[in-house]
Amino acid sequence: MQRAILKQSGLFYQFQNAPKNINAIFTNRELNLGFVNQPESLMKDNRQCVLSRLNLKLEQLVCLQQVHADNVYIAKKDDKGRGAVRYTEAISETDAVITNEKDIALSVFTADCLSVFIIDKKKNVIALVHAGWKSTKKSIVKKTIFIMHQVFETQPRDIAVFFGPAIRKCCYEVGEEFLNYFKRGITREKDKIYLDLAEINSWQLKESGVPENNIFDSGICTSCQNDKFFSYRREKESCGRQMSLVIMK
Ligand SMILES: [Zn+2]
Repeated sequence: MQRAILKQSGLFYQFQNAPKNINAIFTNRELNLGFVNQPESLMKDNRQCVLSRLNLKLEQLVCLQQVHADNVYIAKKDDKGRGAVRYTEAISETDAVITNEKDIALSVFTADCLSVFIIDKKKNVIALVHAGWKSTKKSIVKKTIFIMHQVFETQPRDIAVFFGPAIRKCCYEVGEEFLNYFKRGITREKDKIYLDLAEINSWQLKESGVPENNIFDSGICTSCQNDKFFSYRREKESCGRQMSLVIMK
């Protein structure tokens, strides 16, 4: 795993080592981009604000009804705009989305969960994954890469991966049951147990055949940097959501 090079411009951070035809970004906490804790009219305005700075339109955005499971959806041209302004129109019960179409902006919304950007540089396929601990336990990144291979003939060696902001092992204390859930990415300190979502997802990617040198981590802890990012652990129910977004031009 390598440290990602990020460029901050106002409301968002951009992965600089993504391929030139790919825009991969995540937002900070200046605007709540998620479906929760705000009326849909404000959500629309906030999303419009970010998208306009990326020269994108709401009609290009594809949003998911995230449920912490492992369903993977392949977005087509017809899906453009789904969930951009209304939750009920978002793709239901999905935590990972793939497309080989240009000009479709894939998105996930997080506040501690890890966003995983998956880019097949050769076949020009992109994916975005919402990887909380439940989806990680179900190996959602492995499933996503498997489907990319099945449908688009993606070779794991051609994949580059970027990790967005997430709660990190410094702050992510979990219960003893997690010792049974995960064989890796667990740290014990005295009587406390900490989970490392990025480490576990990185291992799953490597087990899928993604070269270690192709995995780039933002390294940002949402809890440590709660002044810049939403953290569900810190803020509980009232917490907003940052947006991760990837688009192929
Ligand atoms: Zn932390």
